Amino acid sequence: MSDSTAIPLVSETRYALNHRRANSACSELFAVLDEVKDPEIPVLSIWDLGILQDVVESPEGVVCVVITPTYSGCPAMAQITADIKEVLTEHGCVDIEIELQLVPAWTTDWLDADARRRLRDYGVAGPDTANCPQCGSAKTRMISEYGSTACKSMLRCEDCLEPFDQFKRF
Ligand SMILES: [Zn+2]
Repeated sequence: MSDSTAIPLVSETRYALNHRRANSACSELFAVLDEVKDPEIPVLSIWDLGILQDVVESPEGVVCVVITPTYSGCPAMAQITADIKEVLTEHGCVDIEIELQLVPAWTTDWLDADARRRLRDYGVAGPDTANCPQCGSAKTRMISEYGSTACKSMLRCEDCLEPFDQFKRF
């Protein structure tokens, strides 16, 4: 099933992020950080999600990673922070700082278009659609506001009867 028409426009923030990475002096470190996945959604990296905002290296060699948490109190953030330090340390970075950027607040608009597709292929409906990721049906119903994690809701498809998670809109 082709749904190329359903791909949402890239938000301004996402556009700015892509531009920043493309012009970064730390493009190699951005690539290293692609290994850091969301523990709750292992098909998406922190870059795909828009959590990773910037990577800068000072003349003294201090690597500063700027991240925006997906939502306040997300339990995955501690794991993500630890994973960032681990992959950068393995890459040979010694001084690593993590800076939390809370403003502007993260929204699901920051998800990359390709990330939305992979999310659906993983069986999780994206934030813009409650359509069933299995069969594409729009006849779906919310079963529970909280799915397998707090950032997802649980829905059920009325056509194929499969339950599925939907990434909540923030
Ligand atoms: Zn279905």
